Amino acid sequence: MYHYRKTRKTYTKLNKTDKERAIGCPFPFCDDDSTQEILDQNDTMYVIANRVKYDVFEGRRVLDHLMIIPKRHVETLSEFTRQEWQQFGELAGRYEALGYNVYARGVASVSRSVKHQHTHLIKCDDHQHKLLIQSQHPYMMIHVR
Ligand SMILES: [Zn+2]
Repeated sequence: MYHYRKTRKTYTKLNKTDKERAIGCPFPFCDDDSTQEILDQNDTMYVIANRVKYDVFEGRRVLDHLMIIPKRHVETLSEFTRQEWQQFGELAGRYEALGYNVYARGVASVSRSVKHQHTHLIKCDDHQHKLLIQSQHPYMMIHVR
């Protein structure tokens, strides 16, 4: 997944502000009273829109980018309770059926921006980019359709 140069700058700036502002966990609804809109939820999970969606995922243009976030602060899927697994699975399955890819980075991933476990729900168009030119930074790229 990639951000174009302009959205990458916005993403980096917002993440920096979140980390400076947060006392504990910088994730929305964990340690703060976020004003971010909750699109869907159950007893243990929220679904919210990613503030800065990816531009490209698996070579396709991203149309919508949401996230499933556990309400409880957990850092890995393995910390989920039985109830959290069930409710996570219900949401992931529902959005998968609506055409979203379900994606979570591993704990050791250097690309993971926040420790609070979060799972991306990414809906793409059907058009495969014919050429992707990637600069040195893995998130900055130029694309040609
Ligand atoms: Zn948290």
